[in-house]
Amino acid sequence: MMEERFDPHIPETGKDRELDSVIRPQALGDFTGQDKIIANLKIFVKAARMRGESLDHVLFHGPPGLGKTTLAHIIANELGAGLKVTSGPVLDKPGDLAGLLTSLDEGDVLFIDEIHRLSPVVEEYLYSAMEDFVIDIMIDKGPGARSVRISLNPFTLVGATTRSGLLTSPLRARFGIKFALEYYDTKDLVRIVERSASILGVGIDGPAANEVALRSRGTPRIANSLLRRVRDFAQVIGDGHIDLEIARYALDALNIDKRGLDSVDNKILRTIITKFKGGPVGANTIATAIGEDQGTLEEVYEPFLIKEGFIVRTPRGREVTELAYRHLGMEPSPDTGGEATLF
Ligand code: ADP
Repeated sequence: MMEERFDPHIPETGKDRELDSVIRPQALGDFTGQDKIIANLKIFVKAARMRGESLDHVLFHGPPGLGKTTLAHIIANELGAGLKVTSGPVLDKPGDLAGLLTSLDEGDVLFIDEIHRLSPVVEEYLYSAMEDFVIDIMIDKGPGARSVRISLNPFTLVGATTRSGLLTSPLRARFGIKFALEYYDTKDLVRIVERSASILGVGIDGPAANEVALRSRGTPRIANSLLRRVRDFAQVIGDGHIDLEIARYALDALNIDKRGLDSVDNKILRTIITKFKGGPVGANTIATAIGEDQGTLEEVYEPFLIKEGFIVRTPRGREVTELAYRHLGMEPSPDTGGEATLF
């Protein structure tokens, strides 16, 4: 049976969501990490403002919780423009998209999250809107049907996707600016945790912030969720201040993995070790064995496991490293060519 655990991947609801909007950086200067992206965005935003034009369409690609939505809000703020937010699966009819597009004021930002999940018909409507700021809509059905062209105010589309491999090439080509977000290093996550703590008015020691950062899977959303839960422990069993001891106690009580891996990460490692003798094994085979989609495995889970040195990619497939065995409290068994035994 699956062990029940706190899942900080799930976006916040209720009170946490309110806190989230307070913590969310509002300007490029408040945004920690992703230095190259921020430096480039500053230039592009400034240039668009100097020319009095709308910013070119922007595509953000990267795993969940790294700041794509936050950057869309920041772009609108920095442009001094309005923002409308929607997502690929919500826009299921061309009429929904037409309604949104015609409601945009000049220079506004339209943010479409999970843009890889747009239906093909809706996507096709988007092409002319992005390219020439017009849409052709069909009026009437049957013999009387005709198409009417509607001009739109120039706008900036900001798209976000966790699965860039699923984006069609015509859509991808219509984005003038494309950025891939990377996992955050510990130093940046510490800064994010300290900034959020100060906004929430909670004291946190350096080593405690470091502990939260280390267990956050390189992801600001997780860092902020963990901080909120650790704060609860500090309030109830301490004096409200977060020191290393309280942080460790809370994170252990919440079953947060010491290296920040989540249950799927651990399942991937355990499966490669126990079912495939540590690898090499193809991504497709791993995905089937754990019941995940191969693209999600490759684009959402694997990059972090590779970055942290738990998995290596070889020409014959994925292989776990010694670190993965140690992490799971297993050791490679020499006579079975890597097959694991429990300690
Ligand atoms: P995504 O859209 O990529 O899933 P979000 O933009 O919703 O991620 O970010 C998740 C949470 O993490 C947000 O609430 C935001 O406050 C926080 N966050 C993301 N990036 C940063 C950052 N660079 N600095 C501070 N907080 C961040």
